[in-house]
Amino acid sequence: MFTIDNLTSKKAMELEGKYGAHNYHPLPVVLSRGEGVHVWDLEGKQYYDFLSAYSAVNQGHCHPKIVGALVDQAKTLTLTSRAFYNDALGVYEKFITEYFGYDKILPMNTGAEGDETALKLCRKWAYQKKGVPENEAKIIVCENNFHGRTITVVSMSTDPEARKDYGPYTPGFVTIPYNDLDALEKALEDPNVAGFLVEPIQGEAGVYVPDEGYIKKAYDMCKAKNVLFIADEVQTGIARTGKRLACDHEGVKPDVLILGKALSGGVYPISAVLADDDIMLVIKPGEHGSTFGGNPVAAKVAIAALEVVKEENLAEQAQELGQIFRNELKKIQSDMIELVRGKGLLNAIVIRPKGDKKAWDVCVKMAENGLLAKPTHNHIIRFAPPLVISKEQIMEAVEIIKKSILSFG
Ligand code: PLP
Repeated sequence: MFTIDNLTSKKAMELEGKYGAHNYHPLPVVLSRGEGVHVWDLEGKQYYDFLSAYSAVNQGHCHPKIVGALVDQAKTLTLTSRAFYNDALGVYEKFITEYFGYDKILPMNTGAEGDETALKLCRKWAYQKKGVPENEAKIIVCENNFHGRTITVVSMSTDPEARKDYGPYTPGFVTIPYNDLDALEKALEDPNVAGFLVEPIQGEAGVYVPDEGYIKKAYDMCKAKNVLFIADEVQTGIARTGKRLACDHEGVKPDVLILGKALSGGVYPISAVLADDDIMLVIKPGEHGSTFGGNPVAAKVAIAALEVVKEENLAEQAQELGQIFRNELKKIQSDMIELVRGKGLLNAIVIRPKGDKKAWDVCVKMAENGLLAKPTHNHIIRFAPPLVISKEQIMEAVEIIKKSILSFG
């Protein structure tokens, strides 16, 4: 096996810099182990993980039940492709559709693929069921959305960093401001609108929580116009915001639901699109797919990951501890904290720079003090620990955050 002797954090960072594309700007920490809410770097320093791989590791690092499912299935059968049936997929499909209350699932791998799948499904439904003229379907999306990195997905983006120099872009999207029902109402007047794709809380944008009632009203407005309400719960889903899904806060069952990230507890790339038969069955054999989507390892891992969410009451845990966490953050007396916001254990602070000290410097300081988080859009720090965190650990983490911010005076 290819190894490098005496690998240090410094050397590991040099290797990534020299041999890897420079499409990320990581915090200077090299992680080599994780368990529960903690990760350790190559030199053995322990950190709280307050990013959870962008909310993929909701169940905690290396959860024994999920890893057990992965290892067992990996030794038995890893991949058949969908050219043949396998003995795990149907069991998983029954399990997840009952779990979320849908007729059907279409299994994919990454969140972006989940979004792409939902867009294709929505367009096909528009032509076959709604009667939109060929190639005229439109999908409404929101400013500051984040749905991944493919060409079509960045075509929907309003973030210049995600979009610039990747054109020509996929047409067919109408962009409206987030949390703006008047704009939605106006956009819905177009009879060729097929769907409204929305994040119930905008995660990557900086944890923007819309007004209470926004999701329910938006859903009702879509229903009135025979437009599919498509929820991207890749980041908000699976207990993160204090309910099973963020849409559950408003009693909304999306027509099309996109899941990813924590669907595997962070051990394997697994995403899913869920919908009822009248929508899902517009896609026929050969019209969409993926070599790895629905493989037996993914099927077993996802069942285990979803079972852990229920068995360990992670939604209730996120709800309760999230409230405590925000209350404690709001007590920190620093003019660097402009705002604290969030829902469940998906939270953020907006940082007001102090001299040349910005959110990045706060994150570097927190890392020195044993807590990992990453700025989004330069001035926002997201806090999303694994949901298995205890109240004592939350309080300890708050102390680290406080100490780090106050160190800037
Ligand atoms: N959708 C949302 C809401 C996300 O937050 C993300 C990733 O952060 C994605 C989609 C893309 O997921 P992936 O990186 O697995 O493609």
